[in-house]
Amino acid sequence: MNMTQCPQCNRQRKGEEYKCPKCDCFYSPLDEILAAEAAEIEKRSFTGRFKASKEASNFWGAVKKEYQRLENSSPYNITLIFAVIIMFIFTMTLSVI
Ligand SMILES: [Zn+2]
Repeated sequence: MNMTQCPQCNRQRKGEEYKCPKCDCFYSPLDEILAAEAAEIEKRSFTGRFKASKEASNFWGAVKKEYQRLENSSPYNITLIFAVIIMFIFTMTLSVI
């Protein structure tokens, strides 16, 4: 599978972008998975959650909700996040080789 060109318009891929900016199409199914994982990690990261809280109309309500969510998070959740991060790094390494 050719991952360096857009499957729709044959535009040459630039750097680490997942999607063709012209037709909003993923370069490969793997890129779709990677983009989803990157978005998920960003969402789960502190800055991502902080951004989401900031964007909420009720800022302190969102902070309180976030605090409760952290309090209720089980060790299973943390293991899952680590598994996703390790999988992401592993896939990135494979794509470089
Ligand atoms: Zn394209």
